[in-house]
Amino acid sequence: MANQQFPPQQQDPPGLTEPMEPRPDHGEESYVGHDRLAGCSALITGGDSGIGRAVALAFAREGADVAFTYLPEEQTDAEATTELITSTGRRAVPIVADLRDRTTCDHAVGVAVERLGKLDILVNNAGYQQARSGEGIEAVDDERLDRVIKTNLYALFWVTRAAVPELKRHRGCVINNSSIQAYEPSTTLVDYAATKAAINNATVNLAAELGPHGIRVNAVAPGPIWTPLQPATQAPEKVESFGANTPLGRAGQPAEVAPAFVFLASPKDASYVSGTVLGVTGGKPVF
Ligand code: NAD
Ligand code: MG
Repeated sequence: MANQQFPPQQQDPPGLTEPMEPRPDHGEESYVGHDRLAGCSALITGGDSGIGRAVALAFAREGADVAFTYLPEEQTDAEATTELITSTGRRAVPIVADLRDRTTCDHAVGVAVERLGKLDILVNNAGYQQARSGEGIEAVDDERLDRVIKTNLYALFWVTRAAVPELKRHRGCVINNSSIQAYEPSTTLVDYAATKAAINNATVNLAAELGPHGIRVNAVAPGPIWTPLQPATQAPEKVESFGANTPLGRAGQPAEVAPAFVFLASPKDASYVSGTVLGVTGGKPVF
């Protein structure tokens, strides 16, 4: 098949790393830290796999202790990420949490702060899409709409709201995971794309509100990245050619996205960077 990149494969959501062919690259063999986040404490939602796992590993190799949330179905991925973090000598705090519930969001932030002793970096990374059910608005049933908007937007507001008092104490930062879908929406992802555009809007607004407290708020907008989300939510024929329509002609790996998060998290390198969205898209425009 033309443009084939990946063997056809499907999983049930939320998807796991182990069955993926090929296995994603989270930077295990390649990421070299330079103490950019020495002494920092981070919470990453959905840090068990994909981009979140690569960010967790990079943050730990940069000297940060890392708490991360994951879903109950993702226990094996959470264990693998915990092992990656602790192998750097940093502390890992895995927190099982379905963030579609406000009290669970409050609890997750509370556990992270208590176990890490403080929080200076919040990464709102957890996300969900469902492209398999068909094209367009008529494929968006209420269950799907609820899951997409609760995971991508409600959780971001709830987790951020719970973390802000602690972030104010440490003049910390927030990094949201947006998407190329905010700029170039697919008809199969009408609900998901709308949440990502809203995340960009909230990023700018929160940067304005929290800047006077010394808190920087930014987002990363990834293009097509090879993570469990794809085989778990896209049709098999989409998986096969995933990423081939980018100027660079391929999907990216989680390891290629993590350095953007490290840059935005770094209190030194990004000290004057706030309210921006950094594209990591393989060449697709983010304006
Ligand atoms: P992934 O499946 O590895 O990570 C997503 C994580 O979200 C899961 O591991 C899961 O723990 C978490 N999650 C989902 N529903 C949740 C819920 N209800 N409560 C708590 N956590 C929940 O896939 P990924 O691609 O690394 O996704 C990470 C982020 O990157 C998402 O926000 C996604 O929208 C964004 N993104 C991904 C791509 C891509 O092509 N993979 C492109 C642009 C943006
Ligand atoms: Mg996962």
